[in-house]
Amino acid sequence: MFNTKMETLPREEIEALQLRRLKELCVRVYAMVPFYRKRFDEAGVRPADIRSLSDLKLLPFTEKQDMRNNYPYGLFATPRENIVRIHASSGTTGRATVVGYTARDIDNWAESVARALGCAEINSKDFIHVAYGYGLFTGGLGLHYGAEKLGATVIPASGGATRRQVQLLKDFGATALCCTPSYALHLWEAGQEAGIDFTALPLRKGIFGAEPWTESMRQEIERKLNIDALNIYGLSEVMGPGVAMECLRAKNGMHICEDQFLPEIIDPVTGEQLPPGEMGELVITTLTKEGIPLLRYRTRDLTSLDYTPCLCGRTNARIGRLSGRSDDMLIIRGVNVFPQQIESMLLENEGISPNYLIVVDRKDNLDTLEIQVEVSDAFFADEIRKLQEIGRAHV
Ligand code: ADP
Ligand code: ZN
Repeated sequence: MFNTKMETLPREEIEALQLRRLKELCVRVYAMVPFYRKRFDEAGVRPADIRSLSDLKLLPFTEKQDMRNNYPYGLFATPRENIVRIHASSGTTGRATVVGYTARDIDNWAESVARALGCAEINSKDFIHVAYGYGLFTGGLGLHYGAEKLGATVIPASGGATRRQVQLLKDFGATALCCTPSYALHLWEAGQEAGIDFTALPLRKGIFGAEPWTESMRQEIERKLNIDALNIYGLSEVMGPGVAMECLRAKNGMHICEDQFLPEIIDPVTGEQLPPGEMGELVITTLTKEGIPLLRYRTRDLTSLDYTPCLCGRTNARIGRLSGRSDDMLIIRGVNVFPQQIESMLLENEGISPNYLIVVDRKDNLDTLEIQVEVSDAFFADEIRKLQEIGRAHV
C-alpha cells in the first residue's frame, strides 16, 4: 500500500488537516485571485470567517462557466513562471477549460494516482499499460506519473492503434491496464479478431474511468478479460484521474484523497448540503493545489458520500458509482429523473439495445415522459408481451 498514513487517519485528524488547509486556501485565493476576492466580497465573507469545516457552506460555488469566463489563465493563483504544466478538458460542451500545475501540484497528483493504484493492490513489480490518451487530456500523463511514483513499469501506449496495443499487451506482458471501460472491451474485441486470448495473458487488473459505466459492464469486462476491473474517478478541473479510486478489497465505492480534496454533496437545485448517503451533486474544494485551486467546484456528477468503515481499512470517505450528471436531470411532475435511471431499467430487459430517446412533453398541463427504445428481432418474435408492458410503462 502507498502512503497508508493519509489513507488511514482517524476522522478527527483528517478533519483537522482539512480545516487547516481550507483556511490557508481561503487566505491564498483571496490574496491572489481577483475573481475569488470579488466573490468573497459579494458574499460578505472574509477568509477569517472560516473557523470550522461547517463554515464551508458560507463560501461561494465555482462553476465550469467561471473557468470559461476566465479563459485561459484568469483563475491561476500563482505567478505564471511557477506553472510547469498545462492541461485542458476536451471542451465537448463548450470552450475548453484550462488548468495549470506547479511542480508541487504534479507531485501531489502523482501521489494521489499512486495511492489509487495502491487501492488496486498494484505495486512496483507491476507493468502498467496506459491506454488513456496522452496530451492535453489528463488521463494519460496522470496515470503515467502516478505509476512511476509507485515505482512500477509504465508502458505509455496512449490511445489509438488498437490492433498494435493488443499485440503490446501480449508481448510486453502488462499486468495492469488503464483506459476507459469501453476501450477495454474494444481491445478485447480486437484481440478476438487477432486470435489473442486475453484469459491467457498475465493481465490481472484494470483501472477504468473517465466515462460512466455500470456494474453489469464491470462483470462483462472481468469475465472477458479475466481481470479485476476497478473504477477510478477524476476531472481535469479538480486535478485529473486519481481524485477517487475503488479498492480491490471491497469493490464498493471510490476512496477520495481527502487530504487533497474536500468533498460535499449538494442538492443540485437548491445548492443545500445533503447528509452522507443521500444522492446529489458532488462538489469539491481542492485543499493543496497551487496552480489553480478551486473553491466548492460543482462537478455536476451525481453520487453520494459514504463515511462508514471500509473492509480495506482505509478511513477516507467513498463516493458511489456515478449515476449521471445533474445537467442531464429532468424534473417531471416535480420528481427528479435522471437518464441513467431509465437506462439501467432498460438494460434489465433483454432484447432492448442501449440506444433510447427520451421525449418530454406536456399534455393538459401535465408533464409526460415517453421513452422510445430500439428492440432486436428476437425480441419481436418471442417477447411481444414484454413490449406491450413497456409500452404501458410510459408516465
Ligand atoms: P474531458 O472533459 O476532457 O473528457 P475531464 O477529465 O474533465 O475530461 O472529464 C471528467 C468527467 O468525466 C467527470 O466530471 C465525470 O463526468 C466523467 N468521469 C470521470 N471518471 C468517471 C468514472 N469513473 N465514472 C463516471 N464518469 C466519470
Ligand atoms: Zn476500501
